[in-house]
Amino acid sequence: MTGASDAAAAAAGVANGLLIDGEWTAAEAAFDVLDPATGEPIARVEDAGITHGIAALDSITAAAPGWAAAPLRERAEILRRAFDAMTAQREDFAYLISAEMGKPLAEARAEVDYGAEFLRWYSEEVVRPEGEYRKSPDGRSRLLVSRRAVGPCLLITPWNFPLAMATRKVAAALAAGCTAVIKPAPQTPLTTIKFAQLLLAAGLPRGVLNVVTTLDAAGVCAALLADGRIRKLSFTGSTAVGRLLIGLCGQNVVRPTMELGGNAPFIVDADADVERAVEGAMTAKMRNMGEACTAANRFLVHRSLADDFTSRLAHRMASLTMGHGLNADTEVGPVIDRAARDKLGGLVADAVARGARIRTGGNPVEGPGTFFEPTVLADVPTDSRMFSEEIFGPVAGVTVVDDLDEAVQLANATEYGLVAYLYSGNVERALGTAERLDFGMVGINRALVSNAAAPFGGIKQSGLGREGGREGINDYLDLQYIAVDA
Ligand code: NAP
Repeated sequence: MTGASDAAAAAAGVANGLLIDGEWTAAEAAFDVLDPATGEPIARVEDAGITHGIAALDSITAAAPGWAAAPLRERAEILRRAFDAMTAQREDFAYLISAEMGKPLAEARAEVDYGAEFLRWYSEEVVRPEGEYRKSPDGRSRLLVSRRAVGPCLLITPWNFPLAMATRKVAAALAAGCTAVIKPAPQTPLTTIKFAQLLLAAGLPRGVLNVVTTLDAAGVCAALLADGRIRKLSFTGSTAVGRLLIGLCGQNVVRPTMELGGNAPFIVDADADVERAVEGAMTAKMRNMGEACTAANRFLVHRSLADDFTSRLAHRMASLTMGHGLNADTEVGPVIDRAARDKLGGLVADAVARGARIRTGGNPVEGPGTFFEPTVLADVPTDSRMFSEEIFGPVAGVTVVDDLDEAVQLANATEYGLVAYLYSGNVERALGTAERLDFGMVGINRALVSNAAAPFGGIKQSGLGREGGREGINDYLDLQYIAVDA
């Protein structure tokens, strides 16, 4: 497959060690990073155990007071230099993301732009700290309210946006004056390592950020959370693992930020512009091959438009070019691994057994790599698995609704609450409907809500806290109130 040899080249030059106290360190074991388009190894990285995790914790604990006391301008300038360097290395990062994660180069470039933006955004936010000077109602004291770094953090990221999920956490943590251990997903550790190399080159002091790659996430992270020195956990991943980690945070009352799974509804109202809705559906479904927490998972389309919408969507999906992410013409890459591909097959079979009709695709692709055909299903019943589970792949299921009330009721009938999309010809009605949708984010006639300047996050079992925007830095800050007898 063309593109395959470029994958190993993209990984060349990236450190393969653990970053502990400013040194690239070896462990006793190592593991392969695979190209998901071929199944071939492209690099080997160190496999940390609990002792390495604790060494990293020692390092960030020692570095914490100095970094929390560093002038805001110093922190800002390191983040800004990192932004400039990442922008200059856009192609290198994009090739690396595509090589280890599988997404098409165009999408990898978009991830670099989005990911770098958190560095610039927080370089700007950090120099404008919030604080208040109040008088007590009885006039006897002054009340000063300020914010201070929470302290050493543990940051855990998934494989689907290996750069943006790391920069979104790291930039906010560093801006706030926190030190951190980051544990990337084992499928995509190289992008995080390269990001850490870039931060060191931008002047980040040793020990402020440590990187721990491991196949024993559960063991290493449980040990760090049990230790008592971690003061904050920021996790992006599945709701199942999030629930478990919230439990572990209880032991030492560690503050959790949780960016968890989604089950996004995509509502198309009777007066929507169908072509615009289909365009939006392609973005909301196919960004990252559907492997996004924000991916549209349930298309709830008004009966009067359903046939037209489904036909146009099927036509668009069928015309996408599948291939190695590093091939110039690729529009759909592989899904991350065999388990992900098998799950898609199971979801399609379940929906078909319950009455859904395949309009295009529906099958895994034989051969090397883990590809699944872009798929559209019509008449997906609400009791099918794909209506309640995250699909996380290039499969779109359309369900017909008779009015907005039914759409809202179905949309909200999930334990998830990350993002909803609504296509409508009437902005006033759309705004009113958005207020009835139990989701942390709503896109109106817009299929891409991710933005470094906005508070990204979910409600219900999609998460706790926000990342990005002015709000994102607050998750890394504790309030301190000082009473002055004056
Ligand atoms: P995952 O299985 O929950 O894994 C996420 C990360 O957690 C990986 O680094 C993983 O490492 C680690 N992990 C797993 N079990 C752990 C444990 N017991 N203790 C500590 N760490 C543990 O999720 P995924 O399949 O990689 O990612 C997809 C999920 O992420 C989807 O549900 C998606 O919706 C969600 N997501 C949410 C957002 C958001 O902002 N809301 C953004 C992107 C993705 P190992 O793989 O080694 O176990």
